[in-house]
Amino acid sequence: MDSRRKAIIKSSVRSSIEKLIGQARKAYNNGKVERSKRYIKMAFDLLKKHKVRLPEELKNSFCRKCYLVWIPEKTITAAYDRKNNCLRVKCKCGFSKRL
Ligand SMILES: [Zn+2]
Repeated sequence: MDSRRKAIIKSSVRSSIEKLIGQARKAYNNGKVERSKRYIKMAFDLLKKHKVRLPEELKNSFCRKCYLVWIPEKTITAAYDRKNNCLRVKCKCGFSKRL
């Protein structure tokens, strides 16, 4: 496969990931937590399969452990990490990540 074709595939994969995350957010806001997780799982599978790079704001918009969509004040808590001098977000499942 030539590299131009690859680039096209990657950009379309990226936009479907964006769409899936958007749908996951909507589903979560409508109280459909399980459906929302399914969307995230699909997005994450695409991400792994095609090894696309995502912008930071998308990378930090879901949990890679439990597939919960991350919505500030709702599904994650943010805390300042004194030891590492950074901001740390914590998902409902206990997974935490440095920002
Ligand atoms: Zn989680």
